[in-house]
Amino acid sequence: MKQPQERRVALVTGASRGIGRAIALGLATAGFDLALNDIARQRTALDQVCVEAAAHGSKTLALAADVSRRDEVQAMVTDVVTAFGRIDALINNAGILIPSPVVSLAEVDWDAVMDVNAKGTFLVTQAVLPHMRACKYGRIVNIASIGGKHGAPEQAHYSASKAAVMGFTRVLAQEVGVNGITANCLCPGIIVTEMGRTNLADPETRAQWLRVTALRRLGQPEDVAGPAVFLASDAAAFVTGQTLNVCGGIVLS
Ligand code: NAP
Repeated sequence: MKQPQERRVALVTGASRGIGRAIALGLATAGFDLALNDIARQRTALDQVCVEAAAHGSKTLALAADVSRRDEVQAMVTDVVTAFGRIDALINNAGILIPSPVVSLAEVDWDAVMDVNAKGTFLVTQAVLPHMRACKYGRIVNIASIGGKHGAPEQAHYSASKAAVMGFTRVLAQEVGVNGITANCLCPGIIVTEMGRTNLADPETRAQWLRVTALRRLGQPEDVAGPAVFLASDAAAFVTGQTLNVCGGIVLS
């Protein structure tokens, strides 16, 4: 397999903790240099992830930006390209979950979830694409969720946002394949993170998730890192428009 002449450069959003942090460290181990994003309030934690990634030999850049704000996204991508010259891989990972039954779901919460999860994925992708097209190379990995396929009570807006990410990714793959760019989705299951704990607070709910998981354990953030690194790598050159469940066998396909 052809090896890249230079170290690859990846941009990971929502990288200060949880799945984003694990993916960042997985990419660092795989030899990527890293532009790591999170929202401004997570700056201290983000800087710490940069220190951890640098210990694996990665050049790092921490970028505070709200992925749902076009102006902040554009400035972030400009900073990455100024620092590294290009962006080979984009991991759209930043996301939020605000549980609420549909009957009392506040419009502001619907908008917030759609803005970060769906519009954020679109805005960062759109800002990065010209730089990938100029290089005729790119790997885009969008973190959706089995919630976008299966769903769970009090997560209708989250499910809708993740279904949007999957639909967006399938069409994106068709549009940018001609430019040497792949676009794929990962659908994590129940992963033990700050967000994942929202699904696990009630012991009976936790036991129920374990019962329906073929591997009979909850996921760890590192469980998502391996598939993300694969899809971000040269090894995944002929994989595009796909959605891969990383859920221990909750959803079988
Ligand atoms: P997490 O621990 O809550 O981490 C998400 C990070 O994204 C947080 O640091 C969060 O900051 C940040 N973020 C929120 N809004 C942002 C914005 N507008 N711009 C930039 N960063 C923002 O979540 P996680 O569990 O690692 O989830 C990562 C991704 O996996 C999400 O897309 C999530 O939907 C998906 N996922 C998670 C699970 C699971 O069980 N954990 C399952 C399926 C899919 P704040 O906390 O300060 O808002």
